[in-house]
Amino acid sequence: MPINNVSELNSEARAHIETLIEQLLVEQKRVGIASPLSCFYCGSGNNPSQCTCGVKSFGCTQPFVNACPDCVSAHRKLARHFGKMFSFPKSNRVDSRRAAYFRHVVEASEKIDANLCRELTKTDAWDDGDRVFAQRTLASFRKAHFTKFQALARGIAEESDAYIVKSIGRLFRTVR
Ligand SMILES: [Zn+2]
Ligand SMILES: [Zn+2]
Repeated sequence: MPINNVSELNSEARAHIETLIEQLLVEQKRVGIASPLSCFYCGSGNNPSQCTCGVKSFGCTQPFVNACPDCVSAHRKLARHFGKMFSFPKSNRVDSRRAAYFRHVVEASEKIDANLCRELTKTDAWDDGDRVFAQRTLASFRKAHFTKFQALARGIAEESDAYIVKSIGRLFRTVR
């Protein structure tokens, strides 16, 4: 049920929302702080632990940087996306999967973090050689001090789904 007017809520619901807001504000203040008690990326106090996604430029290999299970899962999803993207050959007219995978990251970042988007667009999926492409892509996260990995993983999944649906549509039009 959409809430149009806060005053329509009963006092119990209001108190609940106020608690949630308070919690969010506390979590916001912890973002970017290396602590054994909270997630470096979203500030959540839910089970922070060392992330083992293995992507150095996400910052999680630094000492005392911990991540909650949701951010760890987001790191892993991104690591998988990048793993595949870097394994595709340099883009050409026959195989542009590298460019498509990269575009999904850029388009998702556009809605989430202007700094990350700006850094990513300095990379060229068509022209950069394999090593430069991987280095530039990953360095963007460090340069932008990016933390919103959960939102980015969700955004990339949405972009990839939309791309698959569009590709299937195109395929059907070709074979018919
Ligand atoms: Zn987190
Ligand atoms: Zn990680």
